[in-house]
Amino acid sequence: MSELKLFNTLTREKESFVPVKAGEVRMYSCGPTVYNHPHIGNLRTFLWSDLLRRYLEWRGYRVTQVMNITDVEDKIIRNANAAKQDINTYTAPFIDEFHTSLKELRVKPADSYPRATDFIPQMVTLVEELRARGHTYEVEGSTYFRVASLPSYGRLARVEIATDSGFSRVESDEYEKENARDFVLWKAKKEGEPSWPSAIGEGRPGWHLECSAMSMHLLGETFDIHTGAVDLIFPHHENEIAQSEGATGKPFVRFWIHGEHLNIDTQKMSKSLGNIYTLAEIREMGYSPLALRYALLSVPHRTKLNFTTQSLDDAKNALQRIELFLLRLDEIATSAPRDAKHSDGHAQELIGNFLSAFQEAMDDDLNTAGALGAIFTLIRETNVAIDAGRITSSDAAGIRTALHKIDPVFDIFPAREQSIDADVERLIEARNAARKARNFAESDRLRDELLAMGIVLEDGAGGTRWRKKS
Ligand code: AMP
Ligand code: ZN
Repeated sequence: MSELKLFNTLTREKESFVPVKAGEVRMYSCGPTVYNHPHIGNLRTFLWSDLLRRYLEWRGYRVTQVMNITDVEDKIIRNANAAKQDINTYTAPFIDEFHTSLKELRVKPADSYPRATDFIPQMVTLVEELRARGHTYEVEGSTYFRVASLPSYGRLARVEIATDSGFSRVESDEYEKENARDFVLWKAKKEGEPSWPSAIGEGRPGWHLECSAMSMHLLGETFDIHTGAVDLIFPHHENEIAQSEGATGKPFVRFWIHGEHLNIDTQKMSKSLGNIYTLAEIREMGYSPLALRYALLSVPHRTKLNFTTQSLDDAKNALQRIELFLLRLDEIATSAPRDAKHSDGHAQELIGNFLSAFQEAMDDDLNTAGALGAIFTLIRETNVAIDAGRITSSDAAGIRTALHKIDPVFDIFPAREQSIDADVERLIEARNAARKARNFAESDRLRDELLAMGIVLEDGAGGTRWRKKS
């Protein structure tokens, strides 16, 4: 069996994944900045972070995943002020929408969703530690990180700390800094901004500080995986490393995993450009959250993805093929007595090939396209074998089990509720056909079968409707 390899931005190489503590993985995923609706670009990043967690679990690791919610930073304050609301009132609906979107997309909840405003004391302590180690300076009540104090600064993003660093001090909003790459840890209180009294003066945290403090508090000073999209490599993640390693003197994160963007007309989908789609808009366009899940996951995380409705149509078709195939397997698996002794062993071979192709693809830096390809190879080859009369009922049950074995990773099979719906529709159609053929014995039998499933039929002018028996 192959071993899991993940591309680590720190080394720019696919490395064998080995966690700090055998059998356990601790991962931190940069979560949403809740100043606007989450868009499907953000959701792409959250989906593959969840897929990574699910695959690690499938590989037998116990995973702890933390995803922060940035609920205080410049844009939130600006928008809340414009709406004449305090930041909690302003961010609440966006936090709700974030959770609902993830749930609809079948993203497994993280172990915790720390909110920045709940971790102010830990952030202040971190700044004090950095100050004690000589990494900070203060200007007019704000505390800055001095990048020149940390020789390894720039290792992740591969940037140099030149004195002339390529962008003007006047353009960057904190032009009282010593070096343009220096960044603010703690911002002095300003009129019209929320602030917290603290030992380092009254003020509020900088965005980078939030993630360092929360991740180390919840996962320890050194942990396994940190995720986000590529826009976070610099400066956000570089600065997280500086703050954490500057304070502890220990390596902060082993694997930095970054995903490419979801683009639209080759431009990054972003709240500030205004070219966004939300999950609600996708639904209004007539696509299910499951189709979006499939479309976004079918492209590996390190590949740029241009959003088109064609990709949603393709996803819809792919999901339909899987669903029909599962129904076909169900029919065969339940149609005849289990007859393992008649199997010619072909199905076992198909299952073996499928499971190893699936794992090999996923082990290769989560090659989701390859893993889904393995499902369709299995479908195609099984269909050929069924048509040739080579699949017994126990073979069909075995293939179904193999597919269900990988489902915890992709979670794209119809929900139980949906498959009941499909079964009901199928029986109603059969009953309508029987009635049309005036085969009333058969149509009554089908009505009884549905009743036994708890389904009541109502025949009316507009056709047959059904409801669940209350
Ligand atoms: P934000 O809410 O802007 O802090 O972003 C939340 C997450 O979504 C971060 O990991 C970002 O890097 C990521 N992200 C932002 N825009 C996109 C995009 N167009 N495609 C993929 N990920 C994105
Ligand atoms: Zn972060």
